[in-house]
Amino acid sequence: MTILSSPVGSDYRPSPAAALVALRDAGLPVHLPGTDSYAALTRTSNLVKAIAPAGVVAVRNAQDVSRVLRSAAATGVQVAVQGTGHGATETMQDAILVSTVALDEVSVHADERWARVGAGVKWEAVLAACAPYGLAGLAGSSPDVGVVGYLTGGGLGPVARTFGLASDLVRAFDVVTGDGVVRRASATENADLFWGLRGGKGTLGIVTAVEIDLVEQPSLYAGALWFDAAAAPAVIRTWSLWSSLLPELGTTSFALMRLPDLPTFPEPLRGRTSVSVRFAWTGDPSEGAEMIQVLRAVARPLIDTVRVMPYSELGDVHTDPIDPMPLHEEHSLLSSFGPDGAERLLELVGPDTATALAMVEVRQLGGKVRDDRGLPSAFAFRDAAFSVFSLGVLIPEIAQSVVSDSARLHDGLSEWALDGGLPNFTDTAGPAWAARVFTPEVARRLQTLSLVYDPDRVLLAARALRS
Ligand SMILES: Cc1cc2nc3c(=O)[nH]c(=O)nc-3n(C[C@H](O)[C@H](O)[C@H](O)COP(=O)(O)OP(=O)(O)OC[C@H]3O[C@@H](n4cnc5c(N)ncnc54)[C@H](O)[C@@H]3O)c2cc1C
Repeated sequence: MTILSSPVGSDYRPSPAAALVALRDAGLPVHLPGTDSYAALTRTSNLVKAIAPAGVVAVRNAQDVSRVLRSAAATGVQVAVQGTGHGATETMQDAILVSTVALDEVSVHADERWARVGAGVKWEAVLAACAPYGLAGLAGSSPDVGVVGYLTGGGLGPVARTFGLASDLVRAFDVVTGDGVVRRASATENADLFWGLRGGKGTLGIVTAVEIDLVEQPSLYAGALWFDAAAAPAVIRTWSLWSSLLPELGTTSFALMRLPDLPTFPEPLRGRTSVSVRFAWTGDPSEGAEMIQVLRAVARPLIDTVRVMPYSELGDVHTDPIDPMPLHEEHSLLSSFGPDGAERLLELVGPDTATALAMVEVRQLGGKVRDDRGLPSAFAFRDAAFSVFSLGVLIPEIAQSVVSDSARLHDGLSEWALDGGLPNFTDTAGPAWAARVFTPEVARRLQTLSLVYDPDRVLLAARALRS
């Protein structure tokens, strides 16, 4: 006979309504489903990663974040965070979403070469604010991405081989940990948290502002060479050899693209297969021109945008599309990408194959990415040599092929693959995400920190560590 039984059934789910009412009554900006503001604040750039939180709180400061976390803890509800919606992976059902869009501070301390940036800021604002001083923040390929979402995942950008991971240039975070306490994390304050926030994404807390070192880089010799499909095999074979000789002053990637015949794309690329070689050189432009000459000599590019450009135009290197689309994304890390790897890639997705994938990108890592400057972080796979990222558009006619072609590509490269992934590129959530982006040692340390800083497991992202 059962003497003690739970007062709630096994299908009990805590209701976020009470917490949302309490927060609204306390004067916080709460946005509920069915309103235009809720729709705007829950937008995601990948349409298959739609989110449906119980309500959104557009926080104005760290105290608001603390109130949300404490109210949620009191009612057994979980809390998620979003800035731009570019990296959504959870549905957030029954959770309260903290939106950071109103945290829009950007202040540049040019004399000391650092900047303070609010959690709602996109890289484009930082690039623009730093440009007048000839200074640069280590943005990723798209300036539309949020600074904090990017940095907490490591941040691997178009000049990474020269300057390293963007998270290695973080000086400090202002963060509200899962227990609702406002803290500062740096090499000297809450150093364990500082370790975990650089690579651990939102698993330990909600960042409200970050302070980053800037580098002196007013301009770059950078851009992309776009080649026709016919040249793609020679370009990719050459790239696999050439990239291994590239000094750290150069960062490169290539992307095999199958662009639809739409007016949004440049005329020579529409409705055809092409390969784009991206190149960013932080040294003397004439040396950069000499380096990229090898690729220019393979074939005549359809488009050649490699030039001396202001650093603030960094987004022109990859020209990532940012319009919302239904996407299937997959990513692997490789230990090498030599001639054998290039042949395999060509067999799998080269111009002579039928594939439903719209883009297959190979980025060269190495250089300063490997160097943690004596300040280790939760970013786990520094030693990977290449990242492969594929993307397909899930329109009904090809959705099944997108998924199967993507799996075939990554399985086909398994001979060179590492058992891991980059936090920013691994498009899953929860324990599956953690198992892929952390080594067991990193995961164990994050789990311990999560018990300390989020004892009630209020953060939805902590599910990745403590399911
Ligand atoms: C077009 C495009 C290009 C990209 N290029 C690169 C690239 O070159 N290099 C690279 O490394 N990544 C790149 N990414 C991946 C990108 O860095 C991640 O998707 C990142 O999470 C996006 O952050 P966000 O704030 O814009 O997105 P959001 O959807 O707002 O946030 C995504 C996640 O970031 C974390 N996060 C956001 N805000 C906070 C906060 N205040 N506190 C704690 N955690 C937070 C949370 O885990 C959240 O779920 C790219 C993504 C896109 C869409």
